Amino acid sequence: MKRRVRGVKGSSRRTSRARVHRKAVVKKSLAKKGAGPVRQPAHRRTSGARSGSATRTKYVYFFGGGRAEGDASMKALLGGKGANLAEMAGLGLPVPPGLTISTEVCTYFYANGRRYPQALRTEVAQHLARVEQLVGRRFGDPVDPLLVSVRSGARASMPGMMDTVLNLGLNDDTVQGLIRLSGNPRFAYDSYRRFVQMYGDVVLDLKPQSKKEIDPFEEILERKKRDRGVQLDTELTADDLRELVAEFKAAIRERKGVTFPDDPQEQLWGAIGAVFGSWMNPRAIAYRKLNGIPESWGTAVNVQSMVFGNLGEDSGTGVAFTRDPASGENIFYGEFLMNAQGEDVVAGIRTPLPISALEAKNKAVYGQLIKIRRKLERHYRELMDIEFTIERGRLYMLQCRVGKRTGGAAIRIALDMVQERLITPRQALLRIDPEQLNQLLRPSFSQAEKERAVREQRFLARGLNAGPGAASGRVYFHADDAEAARARGESVILVRVETSPEDIRGMAAAEGILTARGGMTSHAALVARQMGKVCVAGCEALNIDYGAGTLRVTGRDTVLKEGDDLSIDGTTGEVFLGHIPTEPSEVVRVLVERTLDAKQAPMYQRYAQIMTWADRERRLGVRTNADLPDQCANAIAFGAEGVGLCRTEHMFFGEEKIGPMREMILAETAEQRRAALAKLLPLQRQDFEGIFRVMQGRPVTIRTIDPPLHEFLPHDEAGQQALAAELGIPVERIHSRVEALHEFNPMLGFRGCRLGIVYPEITEMQAHAVFEAAANVIRSGIATHPEVMIPLVGHVKELQLQAAIVRRVAEEVMKEKGVRVPYVVGTMIEVPRGALTADKIATDADFFSFGTNDLTQTTLGVSRDDAGRFLVPYVNDFEIYPRDPFESIDPDGVGALLRIAVERGRATRPQLKVGICGEHGGDPQSVMFCHGVGLDYVSCSPLRVPIARLAAARAALGAGGETEA
Ligand code: PEP
Ligand code: MG
Repeated sequence: MKRRVRGVKGSSRRTSRARVHRKAVVKKSLAKKGAGPVRQPAHRRTSGARSGSATRTKYVYFFGGGRAEGDASMKALLGGKGANLAEMAGLGLPVPPGLTISTEVCTYFYANGRRYPQALRTEVAQHLARVEQLVGRRFGDPVDPLLVSVRSGARASMPGMMDTVLNLGLNDDTVQGLIRLSGNPRFAYDSYRRFVQMYGDVVLDLKPQSKKEIDPFEEILERKKRDRGVQLDTELTADDLRELVAEFKAAIRERKGVTFPDDPQEQLWGAIGAVFGSWMNPRAIAYRKLNGIPESWGTAVNVQSMVFGNLGEDSGTGVAFTRDPASGENIFYGEFLMNAQGEDVVAGIRTPLPISALEAKNKAVYGQLIKIRRKLERHYRELMDIEFTIERGRLYMLQCRVGKRTGGAAIRIALDMVQERLITPRQALLRIDPEQLNQLLRPSFSQAEKERAVREQRFLARGLNAGPGAASGRVYFHADDAEAARARGESVILVRVETSPEDIRGMAAAEGILTARGGMTSHAALVARQMGKVCVAGCEALNIDYGAGTLRVTGRDTVLKEGDDLSIDGTTGEVFLGHIPTEPSEVVRVLVERTLDAKQAPMYQRYAQIMTWADRERRLGVRTNADLPDQCANAIAFGAEGVGLCRTEHMFFGEEKIGPMREMILAETAEQRRAALAKLLPLQRQDFEGIFRVMQGRPVTIRTIDPPLHEFLPHDEAGQQALAAELGIPVERIHSRVEALHEFNPMLGFRGCRLGIVYPEITEMQAHAVFEAAANVIRSGIATHPEVMIPLVGHVKELQLQAAIVRRVAEEVMKEKGVRVPYVVGTMIEVPRGALTADKIATDADFFSFGTNDLTQTTLGVSRDDAGRFLVPYVNDFEIYPRDPFESIDPDGVGALLRIAVERGRATRPQLKVGICGEHGGDPQSVMFCHGVGLDYVSCSPLRVPIARLAAARAALGAGGETEA
């Protein structure tokens, strides 16, 4: 499905002939109201389009009255919201009846110039008639009108990204029916003006065109309040609101050149079109990119009978989680507002009450909700997120879905549910997104620094602890400014009165998000948790002036401007002035720093349990990419089983080594080169010894020197002068050497095994260092398993030449030292020729390790050093690759070469060990791929080792790219 230029939205402009035709269809369907057959569930339905049979595709699915045509397993077709509404209806929960238009219609809509399948109108009319029968009201009836909501609902939750229209079906006639029904003209006109406002915005596109412009409807509303001399919307009378309806409609006519539709059918189809159209709005597209949701999924549309939470003090609305989504604690967790619409809670306009306070307002409804909480958890065996409305003391369930949660909560809930025998340990592993482990490894404020901030009276205010972790950065008030600051390399705290889906990119760019209004389930809180961002929400002491670009705090003189430092603690809700340094996580403190006792660290204990289960399931080994002993030690603490890549050249940048290294490069004869290498040998040997000792017999893959030599020389004039003086040689010699060695991006010249082939004494020195170190360590009683790896091999002869040197030196050293070193020699596969001739290369290789960084650049013909410039639009705008191919393996190109190399390599040498050491080794999706191709291990940076362990376990359990929920 390709993106299309937005035209006139949906079907809001229709000819009168079309209207007449539709009326006829509806009349017919009303005549056989309630007579519609109960259809087959979709998983048993026959799709004419697919099967080629005469049976036509079913596009619309009914739910309500304790029955449903769909269920929770049908998310792909009905979207998450539709599938779960059907499931709840099927469970006998009080769901207002409605219908779901399937995602197949969305696909059809975009494939056919924004038109619908022919049968759709009839199907919608038939199902709407069933809704009318159950509710006992008719759509468009001026006496007893049925009103509906029209909402989006994709397969994956995309909170607030697409459009919604509420109170649909109101016009000057039906509003009279609503007045009679509610006995409350003010409520009826308020619903009407909200409807016109929402429809005008969503369907007829009357909205602010820039961030500086005020919402046109809000402008009219403010004017009305000024005219009436009142402050609050609630102080406007029914007459005021009736006038507002007319003024809103006039503004639409004037600015958009269209008449607001009075015909409820026209309203309905306009809204359906707009919701399908909103699948392609910029914020939905941005959200999909951030969350890897394919465009091809499309959205469903749910048309559901309205219930009202704003009919008085015996009505209300709320959102809740069956457990605490921030900590994972097994408590009912949520908030509500009496006399309010759902939007009021989610938009964060009024700060709601905690769910426990509902007991005092309506004991029976609270009790019913507690029962529903239990029923849903037992049924779904998951943390559920619910939305409910109380209409005149009666409870209605409007939505349920699997709840988003923090990484810490995900682990705690999974473990608790295993204990409660709701799920098995294997299911627990499938419940945790490997990337979420990042949150456990995240920093918090250094306690001492935080106490200092308190002493210095830098504590500013407290809000809700909506997203755990600590963040410190510069204040920005607008999403695009936050993005720009992030691009400049700044750490950003995005400060908003409240956030909206418009802010999504700014939120992604920020370290932390701070809002002045809204609860734990406000947009800011939900999205931040999902993104794993630190968030403090509803911090009411903040006074933000967007116009002036300032932030004041009630009761203090301090005025913060854009760019000033601010620190927020998303675990406690505290906000501090200035920068506060952060400290590592509990897991890091127990495992790496050893400053915390595991027994005192509940989060660490949970992490450890999950890792134990993961290790039981996974087939892939997990190693680390590390060049120094302390990196190796950290990686072992995180569970690494060996070193998959030690980049020896990183060692040469050490203070005492860079000198002899440069001497070696500037040498003009082999003799001079040998003399310089002789100085390097003991230093390098020492490095290897350090690593071998830490690794305690685990395999260590050491790669011979790889990067082009000019990288080791100074490129600035001052540096070159200094080096010339140090070595006592003319500076011109350095100039000319730098010149001679210079390479053009993407640096595919004199590097990798090519260096060792032309200068074999380098490989010789490195082999000496490796085997002498290994022999020394073995002699001290510590087992050692070096694996020497030759980089950038494309031809078997390259490997043969280098491997021969390594093996010869190994034998010499072993003989000399009288020690047997168990070693192997292998190669990196990182150029396409290497992959394609893997059968030949395997004749001389004990193992392969895929260098997917270079293999990606050489396969795609894209330099890894400057690809960012166009890969971002390649992924985000043109969708050429679903993800950055340097981050996640490109399965069709690079992946195909991996498959070929494994197959051909093992054809020659069935026991050939194969791993991966490119950055992809720590990316969960790529880990799944590696499992599928039959690799033996993945290797990644130390902090990603736990992520790779979990991803490998999930791969072994057959997980796809998503978490089970
Ligand atoms: C690779 O190319 O994937 C690799 C691991 O080596 P380097 O990144 O050092 O080139
Ligand atoms: Mg490489």
